[in-house]
Amino acid sequence: MAAERETGPTRVVIEGGHVLSMDPRVGEPLGADVLVEDGRIVEVRRDSGARGDRDAEWTRTAERIDARGCLVLPGFVDTHRHMWQAILRGSGADQTLEQYFDVVLHSLGPRLGPEDLGLGNLLSALGALDAGVTTVQDISNITKVTEEHTDALVHALDDAGIRAVFAYGQGDERDTRRIRDGRMHSDDALVTMALNAEPAGDEDVLREWALARDLDLSLALHVRGGRPLSRLRQLGVLRPGTVYIHGTGLDAGELRILADSGGGLSIAPGIEMTMGHGLPPFAAAAAVGLRPGLSADVEAAAASDLFGQMRTAFQVARFAALHGTDGVGAPLPTTRDVLEFATIDGARVLGMDDRIGSITPGKQADIVVLRADRPGVVPVYDAVGTVVSAMDRADVDTVLVAGRVVKRDGRLLRPDLPALAERANEVRDRLARTGHLRTRTPSSTAARTVRSSSLSR
Ligand SMILES: [Zn+2]
Repeated sequence: MAAERETGPTRVVIEGGHVLSMDPRVGEPLGADVLVEDGRIVEVRRDSGARGDRDAEWTRTAERIDARGCLVLPGFVDTHRHMWQAILRGSGADQTLEQYFDVVLHSLGPRLGPEDLGLGNLLSALGALDAGVTTVQDISNITKVTEEHTDALVHALDDAGIRAVFAYGQGDERDTRRIRDGRMHSDDALVTMALNAEPAGDEDVLREWALARDLDLSLALHVRGGRPLSRLRQLGVLRPGTVYIHGTGLDAGELRILADSGGGLSIAPGIEMTMGHGLPPFAAAAAVGLRPGLSADVEAAAASDLFGQMRTAFQVARFAALHGTDGVGAPLPTTRDVLEFATIDGARVLGMDDRIGSITPGKQADIVVLRADRPGVVPVYDAVGTVVSAMDRADVDTVLVAGRVVKRDGRLLRPDLPALAERANEVRDRLARTGHLRTRTPSSTAARTVRSSSLSR
């Protein structure tokens, strides 16, 4: 794949689409061309096809993508996902949070070797790209038993050609430094690094935060209930750019500390409601002026696209606003708010809004072309409303990451997909044979072993 990337065209023109730029200065021009050069957006030209001599030469050397009748958006940004869990897709769909800890993290996770984990990360990345998610923060919460485990996870992100933040977790300081010093020291690369800290005691906090400062890495951590922000403030470690995941059950005071400290909030509405974290805090966040990003979170239980997360976010945020739950008096959220959560706000949460999150000249060309003529979508009256209320991955026609086309004409450009699927099924069958692939229903604590035969249906 790397060789293809280097010899691919350096110019791309996406022609004649309805551009939903997510940048007020660019607006939402109809019938516009998006010009891309060397991985960056160089111009959004409102009058498609109006070209002089210089343009004729430019276009002749460019890869042309016909986007007439399509919507052109910045790639979606997933601010928190445990990518390795794609190898366990759907196995935990009925789990509560406790069951997820027990089964996915403590039972199945340790049975996966480097190859399995790499395959999980690769499938997660490809599933994301297929759905127009061009950036993912990989909260890598699998125990890094050996360097080989870590390397397999990182290599898969490189292989996929996705923009990713590898948030290193569950390893040791030496391995963290090895990855940072060895190959992830640049913030301009497609795959960059952060630190996933899940501190237990105050000493852990001080150690993890000192390491993050030392390595100049941003931090990401899960927070649910209690007064985690007050505690970090007391310890004197609050720092801008920290990504706080979930934020369920935090009162307004805690959310205000989060906002005032320059932190970002990553909400995973689907998982938070199905696993029991609590009400996704959209209204509570809005009440203190926080714009969250969205996340798929547990891929063992949630889909790898953000269309579903946007719809869930919209539904729960509206419910909370309309029924005075968790944020009385908050303004009524709109589909535009939610589309911003999934794009520019997500980029801001990750501290990457200078590079991605909108179709803005100078930014990286992470771009999604959505077909507006498919039977579940046509006719389009309100483009933003249609994307959030009616679209899904089937409507994703073309995807670019840093100007490189990774999906075209509705097909992911990965000829090895069948081989990857076969390998994934082998991992599933192996886990089933060991008898450790268990599922539990929420109403029962008794474990039930899923047989291989029932899995393959
Ligand atoms: Zn998580």
